[in-house]
Amino acid sequence: MQKAYDVVIVGGGHNGLIASCYLAKAGKRVLVLEREKTLGGATVSQKVFPEFEARLSRYAYLVSLLPQKIIEDLGLEFETLGRSVASFTPHDLGGLLVSSDWDAATQESFLELTGSASEFESWKTFYTDILHFAQIVAPTMLKKLPTRSELREAVSHPIWNDLVEKPLGVAIEKQFQNDVVRGVVLTDGLIGTFSDAHDFAANRCFIYHLVGNSTGEWRVPKGGMGNLVSQLVDKATELGVTFKTSTDVVSISDSLEVKTNTGESYSASYVLANCAPQILAEVTGAQTPSSLEGSQVKINMLLAKLPRLKSGADPKVAFSGTFHFDESYSDLQRAYAQSSAGEIPEVVPAEMYCHTLTDTSILSDELVAAGYHTLTLFGLHTPASLFDKDNEGVKKEITARLFRQLNRYLLDPIEDCLAVNSDGTLCVETKSPLDLEESVSLPRGNIFHKDLSFPFREDDQPESWGVETAHPRIFLCGAGAIRGGGVSGIPGHNAAMAVLEYSPR
Ligand SMILES: Cc1cc2nc3c(=O)[nH]c(=O)nc-3n(C[C@H](O)[C@H](O)[C@H](O)COP(=O)(O)OP(=O)(O)OC[C@H]3O[C@@H](n4cnc5c(N)ncnc54)[C@H](O)[C@@H]3O)c2cc1C
Repeated sequence: MQKAYDVVIVGGGHNGLIASCYLAKAGKRVLVLEREKTLGGATVSQKVFPEFEARLSRYAYLVSLLPQKIIEDLGLEFETLGRSVASFTPHDLGGLLVSSDWDAATQESFLELTGSASEFESWKTFYTDILHFAQIVAPTMLKKLPTRSELREAVSHPIWNDLVEKPLGVAIEKQFQNDVVRGVVLTDGLIGTFSDAHDFAANRCFIYHLVGNSTGEWRVPKGGMGNLVSQLVDKATELGVTFKTSTDVVSISDSLEVKTNTGESYSASYVLANCAPQILAEVTGAQTPSSLEGSQVKINMLLAKLPRLKSGADPKVAFSGTFHFDESYSDLQRAYAQSSAGEIPEVVPAEMYCHTLTDTSILSDELVAAGYHTLTLFGLHTPASLFDKDNEGVKKEITARLFRQLNRYLLDPIEDCLAVNSDGTLCVETKSPLDLEESVSLPRGNIFHKDLSFPFREDDQPESWGVETAHPRIFLCGAGAIRGGGVSGIPGHNAAMAVLEYSPR
């Protein structure tokens, strides 16, 4: 017999879970169907190296975009921790240290790299202007989409043109002179986005990286990313949401009959697609939307000790923020050109951070006492197409390249710092875009499901929550929605609001 629900949610990622909580709180009967054995999608903590009590944020690792309002509305005990260091970038003369409050050490560090005071002044001006932009844009995220004109008028500042009307590369080249500094700025436009500095895809990605909670600060999830998911699962369970894991939605009819691979069938008044829009298109028989492919490798590591740096910088400082290496502007542009031509970049731009320097709770007491740490590396400009012919071989090659590059800045080679399993293998795993498609259903490994959009609608477009589809009772409730992407809960919240607004009371 077919079971009826007010809302069936396809996918139990964090956005699906957030939508389920809001809807159940409003009295709706909600069913969440998740393809994998576990809930959480790309926001999970896992014991990646089974011999060690270390629960790594296996995919997503930092939080900025999740509005505090969602945490408070749902009464979640989820906390994020700030970092005193924003970033460290080793270079031939030492290292560019940017502290979170742009202190005297930051000023000194800019001076050492650039030989003048002007680059730091430019930095402060640029990011102060961006803060103004963030303070206007962030509060709109949980409301219906503003129009382009409304948002432009609200911002009313030249930064609008720099971030929205002109390619990001133009602003960076105008504002900054130094190649390393320009690269540090550009990386926020490239995380999860395969783009040249002069393509608007970089602008959109940049904006999402700089507006979270009106500050753009990236914070460490206490207890790891999985803590957010367990909080949400507990809340949803308490509110009466029904979950079915290991259940793949294989078709959704026009009348909203949802069929699964387990032979079950459910009828729904509304369907929310937490899965990627490409997957929604497959199961509804619609045309698949085109999108950029994922272009990053993620390397998860467990270290028995932190490596020392050739620059003499304290590793506890250098690795606690974002540690950029080989991410100068010219490195990034060259790598993009090479991978666009189908080659593995000669130098793969990358960045890393060490969760356990801010929050040790993801390790057992024994590992903390023994000085163990986790390290997360995110390598850019490595699109899915590079891996199509030989996923394992290309991963091996890219990992070896990245380790060689990294070791140029280290006194202790990274291989000597990695924890070792009982069979002698090192505690390191590399995830390519193809692996991400396989393990968490990200189409071609795109970490945002599809290309990010600007956080507004055009003036002539109808009112919208940014979640609507061609079907009036199917909404996106995942990263592929407008203002989706990242660990934000925003599309989950907005899809729930759309259902509550459009459904009869
Ligand atoms: C390596 C990596 C690093 C990242 N780092 C960060 C970071 O540090 N900070 C940040 O903010 N963001 C980061 N992101 C992006 C962020 O993780 C995602 O954008 C976000 O998790 C998307 O959440 P979601 O709930 O919308 O979708 P997902 O987490 O993708 O969940 C969708 C769920 O739908 C399920 N599903 C798919 N198809 C079906 C089907 N047919 N039937 C049933 N279930 C289905 C999937 O199994 C999955 O569980 C990262 C992503 C990756 C991959």
